[in-house]
Amino acid sequence: MQQNKPEMKITRTEKSTLSHVDFDNLTFGKTFTDHMLICTYKNGAWQEPEIKPYQKVEMPLSLHALHYGQAAFEGMKAYKQIDGNVALFRPEENWKRLNRSAVRLLMPEVPKEVFIDGLVELIKLDQNWVPSKPDMSLYIRPFIFSSSDFIAARPSEEYTFAIICSPVSAYYSGAVKVKVEREFSRSAHGGIGFTKAAGNYGGAFYPTEKAKQQGFTQILWTDPKNHEFIEESGTMNVMFIIDNTMVTPALSDRILAGITRASILSLGKEMGMEIQERSVSVSEIEEAAKNGSLKEAFGMGTAAVVSMISHIGFDTDNVVEIPVPEKGIGAQIKKRLNAIRTGESPDVNGWMLKIN
Ligand SMILES: *Cc1c(COP(=O)(O)O)cnc(C)c1O
Repeated sequence: MQQNKPEMKITRTEKSTLSHVDFDNLTFGKTFTDHMLICTYKNGAWQEPEIKPYQKVEMPLSLHALHYGQAAFEGMKAYKQIDGNVALFRPEENWKRLNRSAVRLLMPEVPKEVFIDGLVELIKLDQNWVPSKPDMSLYIRPFIFSSSDFIAARPSEEYTFAIICSPVSAYYSGAVKVKVEREFSRSAHGGIGFTKAAGNYGGAFYPTEKAKQQGFTQILWTDPKNHEFIEESGTMNVMFIIDNTMVTPALSDRILAGITRASILSLGKEMGMEIQERSVSVSEIEEAAKNGSLKEAFGMGTAAVVSMISHIGFDTDNVVEIPVPEKGIGAQIKKRLNAIRTGESPDVNGWMLKIN
């Protein structure tokens, strides 16, 4: 039987909205489950976490995060497995990464008991919200923000950590057309590119919108100095299959260390692929795309897992088509990763945390 942790207050909803949800017509991130977790930090300490019905929270307009952007988030998923279990994918990695973001933004680290134990309790309560249809999952959004109510440009004294959850459909975005970005940058050396700071996304919307107006789907970010080296693809890490080698930009303080990226590198090794984490120049990729040694390119991230790239725009008038093989490396890896998540393949790496 479930035993509530004494140090966590749990209030169940009296009217679940689950039966009103049309699971066949979900818009990403617009439907929320019955419960949420919220935990505040004040007087130098985390307070008792609380799980309660999903609801609006009253906030002052002097809310610190709105003015100074001390805010960071995580994105992760819970999956329904073939034996009926619900399991989380590598949640400790998200907990550690949220705390790396928190440290860089001078926010307090979230204790494991609050993040992991709280998350498990929350998902237990909302487990009927985890869709069982193929490729559907429950998207989980843990986040932390500064919640003092003053507008002086100094660090906040109070912080709020919360988790909300949203059932999501399969992410059939199709292959994407990416633009090599040579004007704007998403991050700089010494900056906050390696964190999931809210402001990184706010700063990316404008260049992404410009790329869309030019007919692209996403941006292929390059280094901020000379725009010579490839860094990421939109909000995903990027992988190139050159001949038989998996080539991905090496991590740095400008690149977000994706959990999907790390998992795909492990799977690639298991599949016997050669793997290179190194600098990847735009000119190398352009040459490989033109001489045919670039066999595939794809983005890697929680939302789409693998998002195939069908075109790379080196310039607006220099767009090169990239093969999207139906049974290529990207497709195989996506299948393998999904099979581990649903429990169809054995979880040899111990990635899944079963919640029931
Ligand atoms: C979240 C994110 C990723 C992917 O990380 P995952 O842990 O695989 O979801 C990659 N790049 C950026 C910029 C991101 O925000």
